[in-house]
Amino acid sequence: MKYETVIGLEVHVQIKTKTKIFCSCSTQFGTPANENTCPICLGMPGVLPVLNKHFLESSMRACLATHCTIQPMNRFARKNYFYPDLPKGYQISQFELPLGTCGHINIYVDGTKKRIGLTRIHMEEDAGKLIHGENLGNPGKSYVDFNRTGVPLCEVVSEPDMRSAEEARAYLTELKSILEYTEVSDCNMEEGSFRCDANVSIRPIGQKEFGTRTELKNLNSFKFIQKAIEYEVDRQTKVLDQGDTVKQETRLYDADRGETFPMRSKEEAHDYRYFPDPDLVPILIDDAWVEKLQKTIPELPEQKRERFVSKYGIPEYDTGVLTSSKLLADYFEQCASLLPQPKIISNWIMGDLLRELKKDGKDIADFPITPSALVELLKLIDSGTISGNIAKGVFEEMYQTKKSAESIVEEKGLKQITDSSAIEKIVDNVIQANPSQVEEFKGGKEKVIGFLVGQVMKESKGKANPGMVNKLLKEKMV
Ligand code: ADP
Ligand code: MG
Ligand code: ZN
Repeated sequence: MKYETVIGLEVHVQIKTKTKIFCSCSTQFGTPANENTCPICLGMPGVLPVLNKHFLESSMRACLATHCTIQPMNRFARKNYFYPDLPKGYQISQFELPLGTCGHINIYVDGTKKRIGLTRIHMEEDAGKLIHGENLGNPGKSYVDFNRTGVPLCEVVSEPDMRSAEEARAYLTELKSILEYTEVSDCNMEEGSFRCDANVSIRPIGQKEFGTRTELKNLNSFKFIQKAIEYEVDRQTKVLDQGDTVKQETRLYDADRGETFPMRSKEEAHDYRYFPDPDLVPILIDDAWVEKLQKTIPELPEQKRERFVSKYGIPEYDTGVLTSSKLLADYFEQCASLLPQPKIISNWIMGDLLRELKKDGKDIADFPITPSALVELLKLIDSGTISGNIAKGVFEEMYQTKKSAESIVEEKGLKQITDSSAIEKIVDNVIQANPSQVEEFKGGKEKVIGFLVGQVMKESKGKANPGMVNKLLKEKMV
């Protein structure tokens, strides 16, 4: 039997704020355990939550950037459950009246555009964190850190619109990028600011109804998300092929073993006994407020990609890479404003620049070569002062030493040899040293010229002008 994969994603995004959602404790990551706490986020009896307005407005901006409709009336609800990291015994979240609904994000996979629906974006508080004693040399005991309770989150719930692990990845990449562009979150996956649960099911091709889904948790990198989905599709396929049924359950992904395993049977909404939180008033949002925030939404990745194609005439593939981060896109545009050779600039950024950054696990924010310094290097190639090949070495040196292209070329004597008598000498030597190849060339095997050019370049340490080498060799071998 052939099956189709169906995926819906729930993403918890930590919204960038100085203070927590309902109190004035700091949201600073990495402070000593339980330092960022107060009676409100510790859930003491009788305390009252007060909503952080900056958080609300950032959440509204997240809705606008993903084409969600902001509900004129939305409210918080209590989601009741017991867990040691949840001091109140309930989480303040939103249920029947969320902040935003009916949004969408466009993704591109294999060159085709696809729209993925967003069911809702709602606001909620984060829970605390359990630390198990094994990690503290104290096995058998568990500790709790409440620094994270009350950290503000948005949960972004997609429609079950994705049909492959690649589409899921493309969706997450685009969502992350939108949230970074709007600066509502830093989306730092290692610090848990962007956490994803994947709902996965399969159905026989042609069947209308969805199959039973499992929910995968503990996916803290794009690579693991993709692997976990692929594993789960395989597993469900085997279950159905054996004539069994998939159980609706929550499963954990074990990155070391590359497998998912059951954690608990799936809870239903009614298990949580949701009800409107009586401590918090409903939130009323009028059009004027929405319009005010709409004006603060910057150019988003998709618009930027379209503009890069029309303004700079570079391929869609390039625009995808260049706009993957706003800083990288800005870097490209600064270069392009100094040198009207967008495709050449794009090639250098996608090739050498990103390679160096990846090698060192760095971000464009840490990149030491300024746009004008890179353009200076590219101008040296353009004017024929150095060859493209030599330039690659100069680029590496600029990256390591922060020196300018000019000074590296000067110091190392890398200027291209364009003096024809100097090149002629080397050409003569090479012709003399390789009589059989010369004969082959004369006999009509023109491809040998490549070898001979290579020899001349080698002898000139890469500095001879390749065009002149070619011309001289041909002239001398007739
Ligand atoms: P819950 O809190 O129970 O997980 P939500 O409604 O918050 O429920 O999230 C459900 C998620 O599961 C959504 O992203 C939705 O698109 C997805 N989903 C629902 N049914 C299926 C299915 N049959 N296969 C895959 N994903 C599904
Ligand atoms: Mg869920
Ligand atoms: Zn607090």
